[in-house]
Amino acid sequence: MAEPEKGRGIEGWRNVELPENLVIEVEQLMKEKYEKRPAQVNLGLFIGDLIRESLKKVEIQEKYVSILEDYAVEPECIYIRDNRRDVVAELRFKDGADLYCNIDGAKNCVHVGFAWSLPAVQKIIWDKNTKTKN
Ligand SMILES: [Zn+2]
Repeated sequence: MAEPEKGRGIEGWRNVELPENLVIEVEQLMKEKYEKRPAQVNLGLFIGDLIRESLKKVEIQEKYVSILEDYAVEPECIYIRDNRRDVVAELRFKDGADLYCNIDGAKNCVHVGFAWSLPAVQKIIWDKNTKTKN
């Protein structure tokens, strides 16, 4: 891929102005994530991936927010209120960082999917994964 001249974009790409602070923050994140990789990662692609991830999350939340709500998030148990079935699902950690739903008896039901989309849950899972690795 040829380097674009200053002021001219690459075909299929558009230039977007971003606040400098944000770019610095993203560069820092990228550095931490790809520290051990030898290949240079494109900042635009990296930011694009981040945006795509949050778009997906918004889509999931919009789809399920009226049906499912995060009732309570505790380190060992996540409670998801299911308004359609009028129950509160208890999700507990099994086999390390896998969530297991008590009302579906499954690890891959909508409650677990919804729980995974919550940043507070992702933080717990991240902490658990870090703990098991050490
Ligand atoms: Zn469930």
